[in-house]
Amino acid sequence: MIPPGETIGILGGGQLGRMIALAAAQLGYRCHIYAPEADSIAADVAAEFTRGAYDDTAALSAFAATCAVVTYEFENVAAAPLAAIEAHAALHPPARALEVAQDRVSEKSFVEALGGRPAPWAKVDSRADLTAAMAAIGTPGILKTRRDGYDGKGQWRIMTPADADAIDLPAVPLIYEGFVTFFGEFSVILARGADGELAFWDSAQNEHDGGILARSTVPAPPRIVAQVGQARDLAAKVAAALDYVGVLTLEFFATEAGPVFNEMAPRVHNSGHWTIEGALTSQFENHVRAICGLPLGATALAAKGAVMDNLIGDAAHDWPTILSDPANHLHLYGKAAARPGRKMGHVTRLVL
Ligand code: AMP
Repeated sequence: MIPPGETIGILGGGQLGRMIALAAAQLGYRCHIYAPEADSIAADVAAEFTRGAYDDTAALSAFAATCAVVTYEFENVAAAPLAAIEAHAALHPPARALEVAQDRVSEKSFVEALGGRPAPWAKVDSRADLTAAMAAIGTPGILKTRRDGYDGKGQWRIMTPADADAIDLPAVPLIYEGFVTFFGEFSVILARGADGELAFWDSAQNEHDGGILARSTVPAPPRIVAQVGQARDLAAKVAAALDYVGVLTLEFFATEAGPVFNEMAPRVHNSGHWTIEGALTSQFENHVRAICGLPLGATALAAKGAVMDNLIGDAAHDWPTILSDPANHLHLYGKAAARPGRKMGHVTRLVL
């Protein structure tokens, strides 16, 4: 058990790290942020900041020496250099979770081995592979980079084989996925304690716009809720197989044939931001509790429901209007420039 007063290290300096640090502060912990950028909105609310590259083992080692436990808010960190951390501090979730989740092929294979069902997929490393994948799986489909994709970046929709000709294939490993016909998207977010205790939040229905999460709503419609049990069973198996400690997210498509696994994130997730006000314990607090070996807090709804809207780009400039409604819970991440597509904040409304 890591008692309050100790220091939690967080790899990654964005809004997820910021909200973990805020929850950690409430429980009396100090946070030390490690990120490559000069400015970190997580460091703005934390006790210490180290600017360093994610593969700088000397800097990671010095950082970890100041921490009792290290976690991450960002999964596109190479797993190998993290051994430098484990010499000094516990690392939760485990590096293996990061390795599995940061590559679309490894996460799909991992989940399939546990009985999960992703969209039909094939590895693509060349034009010939893409042609073969389209022949085997059919069109429409989506070509994605295996690594480093987020918020719909690194994705090409292919409606007909002719569309593929227009794509200038990047020289990175790719994956082709068959297009899933779904009636909704949802996520399973769980916290797993050091003793294996599991807690699930209600699954939100997630609506995306241009590949970016726009809105999460709990409770989800009944025909999505009907698929949550099966999806939770898979998420629990994934967590157990990874010996996972912390918050884990799996995203699913709800289809007529049941839940189809999309991807996993070994971390707190945007579709769980509603839990800050909408659940008895937020995803951020339970992540801190789990990685510090504390008992988990209750995850039940704190209201009849909640709706979380992301504030993307210029939408954050509407904060005066948002605040003019006293029922809105406004969260701004403190980012300087509201570039298009950038997550600047979110707003949550409870259904009372
Ligand atoms: P991803 O980054 O893989 O989560 O993709 C972002 C969004 O694109 C998803 O939330 C879906 O709305 C859509 N999408 C991704 N993959 C597929 C697929 N195989 N079939 C249908 N829609 C997809």
